[in-house]
Amino acid sequence: MIKFLDLKFQYSTIKEEVDAAMKNVIDNSAFIGGEEIKNLERDFAIFQNAEYCIAVANGTDALEIAIEALDLPLGSEIIVPANSFISSGEAVTRSGHQVVFCDCDPENYTIDLESLRKAITDKTKAVIAVHLYGHPCNMDELMALAIEKDLKIIEDCAQAHGAEVHGKRIGAIGHIGAFSFYPGKNLGAYGDAGAILTNDAALAKKSRMIANHGRIEKYNHIFEGRNSRLDNLQAAVLNVKLKHIENWTEQRIAVADYYLKELKEVPQIQLPKRESWARQVYHLFVIRVADRDHLKNYLKENDIESGIHYPIALPKLQAYKYLGQDEDEFYANKYDSQVLSLPIGEHITLNDAGRVVSVLKDYFGAK
Ligand SMILES: *Cc1c(COP(=O)(O)O)cnc(C)c1O
Repeated sequence: MIKFLDLKFQYSTIKEEVDAAMKNVIDNSAFIGGEEIKNLERDFAIFQNAEYCIAVANGTDALEIAIEALDLPLGSEIIVPANSFISSGEAVTRSGHQVVFCDCDPENYTIDLESLRKAITDKTKAVIAVHLYGHPCNMDELMALAIEKDLKIIEDCAQAHGAEVHGKRIGAIGHIGAFSFYPGKNLGAYGDAGAILTNDAALAKKSRMIANHGRIEKYNHIFEGRNSRLDNLQAAVLNVKLKHIENWTEQRIAVADYYLKELKEVPQIQLPKRESWARQVYHLFVIRVADRDHLKNYLKENDIESGIHYPIALPKLQAYKYLGQDEDEFYANKYDSQVLSLPIGEHITLNDAGRVVSVLKDYFGAK
């Protein structure tokens, strides 16, 4: 069986380091706050080339807190790409703003700049730039647009640890960035975890305060915040994994390169485009095919797991029907029935990838 995700395999390769790091936290009973968190914030900021890092409870909180820290007028319109996980929209509504969807690029799947421009109104104050599947958004154009239209850019980096635009790491290219360390992400904890990155000292301070009851010291609360701290056990796991992420990412890229090369002659498969300026870290390797469900079953019959990201475009979800954007002429509203995520990750060998390719070629009758 070629698994879609294999966290057990990953653990087996780092078991001693992880066990020792977790034991150390428990031995010291340093559960909230402490060395592991400090080290994670320092090292993850360095890894992503950002000035400040605030570890929080999960990626959805990271987005919500990032939006709240920007202090936009209540009811502002924030533009969200139509193909993403619900958090990208949820965080907007939860912080008192209005979701407006725009389309995604049909080749690299990130936010479509032309569609984004059309969605801007007088009430638009920010954009959620989702680096979807690990492919970075075109940050050059987004930042130029942000200046032109006076918008804040919030990077949703949940799928893009280590991704780069012109050799520059994402996360703090925009005004503020949100990461998830959900177990299945490229860099994942052993539970929920997330982080906020920014180069703006005031936004960093505000975010940290929101995540920790609006306080500056133990019982001195400046405003009402919330509890969204990351615990030291998760930080300890992440600190171990941070040493391996570069390696794992290169393995993902090698598998992606192989798929791209070997599947390029199969006309029925639309392959994901990697822009020349992008370091795509392949959280997901998403192809598009007609009759996707049939192919998914065929792969399963051949002991190959696959995924769908996402089976229902955000505007078509029950949760967003009220926006009336479910019939907008978006690529994203159509290709949710065509996308299929092939197995990728450090658990996939080139041998495994070879088997995936040969099953796909059999299916389509290609050589
Ligand atoms: C996973 C994910 C999130 C949410 O992260 P959690 O840690 O699960 O809350 C947000 N945005 C995108 C694009 C994601 O894939």
